[in-house]
Order: sequence, then C-alpha cells, then structure tokens
Amino acid sequence: MTTTPGTRRTLLALSVPERLARNRFDTDDEESHIEVNQELVKATGCAKAIVNCCAAHVYTEEPDGSLSVEYAACLECGACLAVAAPGTLVWHYPRGGFGVQYREG
Ligand code: SF4
Repeated sequence: MTTTPGTRRTLLALSVPERLARNRFDTDDEESHIEVNQELVKATGCAKAIVNCCAAHVYTEEPDGSLSVEYAACLECGACLAVAAPGTLVWHYPRGGFGVQYREG
C-alpha cells in the first residue's frame, strides 16, 4: 500500500483505537486459535498479567479466577505468551485466510 505525505499525517493524527479500528478481521467461527488451561491459570495466578498485557482486550478475568477469551479481536502480537505462566495458554496463528489484516493500525 502506498501512502502519500498527506495520508500519513492524517493517520498519525488518529488515536491508537481509531487506527486499530481500521484493521479488518476475518473471524474463524469454527476454531479458536487460543486455548486456556483454566486450572493452571488459577493455580499460577497469572490471569491479571495476561489481561493487562493485551492491547486488544481479548481476555477477561472472571470472578473465579478463570479467563474468558474473545479470540476474534486478537492482533496476533504474541504478548500474552510472553507473560503467561508456562502451559497456561495454547496459542497458534489462526487458520489460513482468517485473523487480522492490518490497515495502517
Ligand atoms: Fe492479545 Fe496479542 Fe495475545 Fe492476541 S496475541 S491475545 S492481541 S496479547
């Protein structure tokens, strides 16, 4: 994609949420690319770290300490894997043709 200087200035003036909203998501409705070992999340107490590191707000900590996952919003950055206790997340890229398509976001 080619950006002209005027277009680039316009994009820089947008907030991060506005830029992220330009992305396109093709959601795989049949298969999540993120699985959580709920027992291990509870045992290790790493839910807050996972929730706080995700810029896309994919994870929500439930009152019982488990994690709910809205995988369709995933930006495929891998940050959650860096902070999760070993074995708590099983993460892979979405199947071919699915996932985020960045649009200057
Ligand atoms: Fe969030 Fe990035 Fe993990 Fe996706 S890969 S769930 S965007 S932290």
